[in-house]
Amino acid sequence: ANKDMDKLVNHAKTSGFVYQGSEIYDGLANTWDYGPLGVEMKNNIKQLWWKRFIQESPYNVGLDSAIFMNPKVWEASGHVGGFSDPLIDCKECKTRHRADKLIEDHDPNVHSEGWTSEETVKYIEDHQIVCPKCGKSNFTDVRQFKLMFETKMGVVEDAKSTVYLRPETAQGIFVNFKNIQRTTRKKVPFGIGQIGKAFRNEITPGNFIFRMREFEQMELEFFCKPDTDLEWFEYWKEYCKQFLKDLGLKEENLRFRDHEKEELSFYSKGTCDVEYNFPFGWGELWGIADRTDYDLTQHQNHSRKSLEYLDPTTNEKYIPYVIEPSVGADRLFLSVLCDSYEEELLEDGETRIVMKLHPALAPYKVAVLPLTKKQSEKATEIYSMLAKHFSCEYDVAGQIGKRYRRQDAIGTPYCITVDFDTIEDNAVTVRDRDTMEQVRLPIDELVNYLNKKVTF
Ligand code: ATP
Repeated sequence: ANKDMDKLVNHAKTSGFVYQGSEIYDGLANTWDYGPLGVEMKNNIKQLWWKRFIQESPYNVGLDSAIFMNPKVWEASGHVGGFSDPLIDCKECKTRHRADKLIEDHDPNVHSEGWTSEETVKYIEDHQIVCPKCGKSNFTDVRQFKLMFETKMGVVEDAKSTVYLRPETAQGIFVNFKNIQRTTRKKVPFGIGQIGKAFRNEITPGNFIFRMREFEQMELEFFCKPDTDLEWFEYWKEYCKQFLKDLGLKEENLRFRDHEKEELSFYSKGTCDVEYNFPFGWGELWGIADRTDYDLTQHQNHSRKSLEYLDPTTNEKYIPYVIEPSVGADRLFLSVLCDSYEEELLEDGETRIVMKLHPALAPYKVAVLPLTKKQSEKATEIYSMLAKHFSCEYDVAGQIGKRYRRQDAIGTPYCITVDFDTIEDNAVTVRDRDTMEQVRLPIDELVNYLNKKVTF
């Protein structure tokens, strides 16, 4: 499985999807840069999420809040104080582990989140859990490792000037709940979504872009009346499922895992991990949680501003309950990458690498290929026309078969070949990535034809 992962990472790098961050300086752990193809595909992922969750939903509106927030926000949210990873070192081989992961690998039914360091150490000792690296059971104490990045704001560097890089985008939504409700005159139920960067000082191995220190989240906070929350929880689970299906992710690679009662956070009435079958195993892709009125209540208590909602029809006053589907744009990117990559054995005995991406996700929708240099003037004309509508590639170098393969390998769903006849009949050949079949189409029908294929 890790061989598959190496292959994917290599393909992502050599074709321009994802590079190691600061590579010429030997990198910086768990940071990655999206190359020309990667940025196109990631933008597509974000746009499709926005389209489905904001534009097409009758309930939801969008937001783009600041990364820096008043530090009191993180006290209210529980991130200052609570947001840390329990680290433990093996005294024998000096390998560092996350204690909660050691426990979970030992017994998947035991979830140690929220345990004190002492409770964690005691469990590890009582169950004689061994270091996965060297097989010995001799650990240090647990140290709580803070996950939030700190920096200073303003000229005077003292404790008061400490600010944090947000570890999630959700809090920007909660603190704007009243603003948005008032200014849009939305009635509960309604939701607020945002896409943005989040930062966590992760210490455990990254598995490529699965776990990064700087990543992007796509979060929705959906506000509803208490006691309607479990219905909405189901509604958004289905909604997310449909979205993943429409993106083309294979059903056998997805599972929806509802948390057991014991596994739930104390404030949550229901939580579901959407997991994807990555080459290194099942991992959380999307977290969907019924967070009750926890977040708004916390902010009401800490800010001393009312975050209650007055129901205009019943005159009831309440703090809305919240359903939160939260997904990482980078993790979804990784799922798409893993899911679409195929090595296909062709009839002539050759294999081709092909990324079977939904056309809406593909970095380039179409590649324009002049058969020989003689057609390049006409081909450039066609490229300019198509570039007004789609992200396109233009490739004139090399044998046509090789150029097709190159486009297959980066998931371009259509190749347009401009040939000797084009000048005469004003038509081109359109080749389909998956079937490799070709049709001849008049140039002025191309935009329409492609538009239909790439809609989501
Ligand atoms: P994990 O258990 O993997 O650390 P989490 O439960 O802390 O994740 P949440 O806080 O629920 O994750 O964040 C919501 C989503 O944000 C996750 O489902 C994931 O898609 C994404 N995400 C969280 N942390 C990272 C990270 N370090 N790198 C990339 N994506 C992340």
